[in-house]
Amino acid sequence: MTERLIIIGSGPAGLTAAIYAARANLQPFLIEGFQEGGIPGGQLMITTTIENFPGFPHAIQGPRLMANMREQAIKFGTRMTADDVTDADLSRRPFKFTTVNGENYTASALIVASGATARRLPLDSEKKYWGRGISACATCDGSLPVFRNKELAVIGGGDTAIEEALHLTQFASKVFLIHRRSELRASKVMQNRATSHPKITILWNKTVEEFSGEKTLNSLKLRDTVSGERSELAVAGAFEAIGHIPNTGFLKGHITTNDLGYIVTLPGSTRTNVEGVFAAGDVQDHKYRQAVTAAASGCMAAKEAEDWLRDQGCDC
Ligand code: NDP
Repeated sequence: MTERLIIIGSGPAGLTAAIYAARANLQPFLIEGFQEGGIPGGQLMITTTIENFPGFPHAIQGPRLMANMREQAIKFGTRMTADDVTDADLSRRPFKFTTVNGENYTASALIVASGATARRLPLDSEKKYWGRGISACATCDGSLPVFRNKELAVIGGGDTAIEEALHLTQFASKVFLIHRRSELRASKVMQNRATSHPKITILWNKTVEEFSGEKTLNSLKLRDTVSGERSELAVAGAFEAIGHIPNTGFLKGHITTNDLGYIVTLPGSTRTNVEGVFAAGDVQDHKYRQAVTAAASGCMAAKEAEDWLRDQGCDC
């Protein structure tokens, strides 16, 4: 049976698309993901308190928010499977999909909402303190009480690292920006903001060799990338901002991506270069990457898919 609409991804973009599509009677089928590109539910599953998603003045836990969205999508009739798409043939319609469990699906329309995975430092100690002082999202976690009036670190030298560092200055007593080179990758305007901020100190040519602490993180072991000298930095929190990898591998080049690997959508739309394929959330957005912007683009994708299917003569 050919599905009218398949949605790939179960973060805020995919689930919002599912809620809208189900309510539009498109009977969407959602492939949630399983192991690839992070856990089902997306990056909010690995954050704690969310204080900036509208409608929750007393905050909500990331996993709770995603469970609510999932329940809402199912309530309106979305069918789901916990599986990873390994191959997509978008060269002709209906589109064809193969999953890691060996299932095959076909669909008239597709919404790609497979997200992006935050790059993480490949250290055993990083895994140990992840969520216990280490995070990849200052906007999500930076204002938590454990980080208030504490000295914190941001790792990375790009625009995200500087945005994160600037954001943290609202709560932290001091922010160390740890960069592995002597020159920032970030845009000039962001560089100026970081270098002129009284609370930000840039530690040049430094790389983290180990995270340490007791129950929670309390220091970083650093190595100077030029001299090789080792040092220790006491911090209550560390925010990794070393880039994201959009989860587009399964598309095998069928959809146009930009030089960073993100899906290119038509301006002001979720349409891609392939007719009938729409993209929403972080897989097509390297700039905002917020739950609320992902959800908003999921809504757009569902509405655009609905219009497109109707134009194709779908009786939905
Ligand atoms: P980037 O890829 O631009 O930067 C990643 C940074 O992490 C680099 O400084 C890189 O170092 C460093 N890094 C990568 N791997 C490691 C590692 N293993 N150990 C230590 N450091 C590491 O990613 P961003 O997320 O910052 O930005 C992605 C894109 O989004 C960019 O085009 C950026 O301009 C854009 N963006 C725009 C914003 C805006 O317009 N407001 C806000 C945020 C992002 P090195 O420099 O040595 O390679």
